[in-house]
Amino acid sequence: MGKIKIREFNYNQFFKENAEIIRLYNNVIYPKIACIGALTTTIALIGSFFNDYMARSRAPYVVICVFCLILYFTRKAKFWRMHPVLCDYLVFAQIFFMLMYMGVVLFRNGTGASILILLSIFPVAFVDKPQNLFMAEMGMYLIHTITSFLIKDFVYASLDMINGLIAVIAGCIFGFFILNSRLHALNYRTLLSVEREIDVLTTLYNRRKMTEELESFKRGFTPEPSGVIMMDIDLFKSYNDTYGHVAGDTCLNTFGQMLKSMEHEGKIKLYRYGGEEFIAFVWDANKEEVYKYAEQMHVQTKALPVEHRSITISVGYVHCADKQVKNFETWIQRADQALYIAKGRGRDCVVDYDAIEE
Ligand code: GH3
Ligand code: MG
Ligand code: MG
Repeated sequence: MGKIKIREFNYNQFFKENAEIIRLYNNVIYPKIACIGALTTTIALIGSFFNDYMARSRAPYVVICVFCLILYFTRKAKFWRMHPVLCDYLVFAQIFFMLMYMGVVLFRNGTGASILILLSIFPVAFVDKPQNLFMAEMGMYLIHTITSFLIKDFVYASLDMINGLIAVIAGCIFGFFILNSRLHALNYRTLLSVEREIDVLTTLYNRRKMTEELESFKRGFTPEPSGVIMMDIDLFKSYNDTYGHVAGDTCLNTFGQMLKSMEHEGKIKLYRYGGEEFIAFVWDANKEEVYKYAEQMHVQTKALPVEHRSITISVGYVHCADKQVKNFETWIQRADQALYIAKGRGRDCVVDYDAIEE
C-alpha cells in the first residue's frame, strides 16, 4: 500500500480542480459549526445565571448565540450554499471578536481562556487552503495579542501572548494533519467518483452523473441550465452491422472526444445518455447560443475523421425560458421530443422545440 505523500500534494491545484466537491463538503460543515457555537454559548449563558463572575459575559454570549442561530436557520440560503467557506470565516470572526471583547475588556485582570480554545479549534474546523487558514489564525492571534498589550497590564498581556502562541502552534499542527487526511479522503473519493461518473468509451459523463446532476438542481446546489440539447447518431445500427462493433466503438470514441472538446466548466456539460444518444446542458445562454451549440455539434460531426464513412446526427434542443416549468426533467422530455421530430424529418438536422409547437 502506498504511503500518503503529504509533501507532494499540490494544494492550489487540488483546490482548483476540486472546488465543487470542497464546496459541497464545507456545505455540510458550516451549519454544524453554527450549531455548536449556539449550543456552547447557550450552556455558558445558563451557567452565567448561577455564577456571578460569568454574569458580565452574558451580552457577548447572547450576540454569539443569536448570530450562530441566524446562520444556522439561513443555512439553506443560496448565498451560503455557494459560499460556505465565507460563512465559516464569518462564524469564527464574530466569535473571535466577542471572545476578545470578553478576555481583553470585560476580564482585563486575567488571561483570556476562551480565545485559546478558539485558536486551537479554528484550523481543524473546516476545509480551506492551508495558507488561508494559517493567515486567518495568525491574524486572530496578532489582533488579540496587540489589543491585549494596548488594554491590559503587561503581565496579563504577556501571558495572553505566550498562551495564544501555544494554542496557535497546537492548532496549526493538528490542523495541518487533519486537513491533509481530509483532503486525501476527498481525493480518494474524487478518484472513485471519476470512475463512477465517466463513460469509458466516450470519455463523457455518464447517465448516472446526469441523474445526480438533476438531483443537485432540485436541491439548489447547482444552478439550473438554460438549455438542453439532445443528439442521436443517425442509422448507427447499420454502421455497426456493416463495419462491425469494434469500428462502431471507435466511431463513438471519436464522436465523444469531439463533444468533450466543446465542454466548458460552468457553461456546457455533455453526457452519454444511452447507446448512441447524448445530451448537453448549457448554462447562462440565450436561445441563439443554445442553437449555436446545437448547430456546432451537428456540423462538426459530419467533419469527423471516422473510418469507412462519415456519420451524421439528429439534434433536438430547447431553451429553458418558460418559468411555468417547475420540473427540470420536462426540459429533457422537450429536447427529446424535438429530437424525435428531427428523426421524422429525415435525420441529419437540428430542431428547436419551440418551432415544433407552432
Ligand atoms: P436512428 O437514426 O433512428 O437513430 O437509427 P439507429 O440505427 O441509430 O438507431 P437504433 O436505435 O436502431 O440503433 C442504435 C444502435 O447503436 C444499436 C447498437 O448497435 C448501437 N450501439 C449502441 N451502443 C453502442 C456501443 O456502445 N457500441 C457500439 N459499437 N454500438 C452501439
Ligand atoms: Mg441512432
Ligand atoms: Mg438511439
